[in-house]
Amino acid sequence: MTLNPGTAVYTGTFDPIHLGHLDIIARGSNIFERLVVGVGINPDKSPFFDMAERIAMIGDVIKPYPNVEVQGFDGLAVTFVRRIGARVMLRGLRSASDMEAEFTMSLMNLNLDKEIETVFLMAMEPYSHLSSTLLRQIATFGGVLDKFLPPLVSAALQKRARDRTTR
Ligand code: ADP
Repeated sequence: MTLNPGTAVYTGTFDPIHLGHLDIIARGSNIFERLVVGVGINPDKSPFFDMAERIAMIGDVIKPYPNVEVQGFDGLAVTFVRRIGARVMLRGLRSASDMEAEFTMSLMNLNLDKEIETVFLMAMEPYSHLSSTLLRQIATFGGVLDKFLPPLVSAALQKRARDRTTR
């Protein structure tokens, strides 16, 4: 199968999607003809939101971008990227510590499939401190989330955090 250089896959856990992710999606959609958001399973994390919930939230917030779509995958990211027919895996970089982990990951992916290149976009300054992990913690302790998340995601995260603490 020939891989299309105009197609990119933005992989991640997105538990949940936040404004930093959305900024990478918006900028990626201006570079690539087609951008697929690939929602993966992280075996080291037990998610707040299951795969179907994460996909539904992403589906909602990508509506303004006609060349962006969302799909779930399990297994290796490079296998999914090849299945989509994309040449490019898109990732966001927040900090030097992200860089170290992403550097190793992108070289490993290149070893697994030499035709798939990872392309990085630097996080925009207002979002560079955002992570889904931190936002889940803030939600758990009842902090305000509206500045960091699309409204629908903020409401869902607050509800999920409340449900988990009263369980
Ligand atoms: P993963 O568990 O694979 O790191 P995440 O959902 O945390 O998945 O992140 C998916 C991608 O988005 C990664 O490339 C990550 O570096 C990037 N990313 C995460 N937070 C931000 C942010 N605030 N700004 C830009 N990119 C981000």
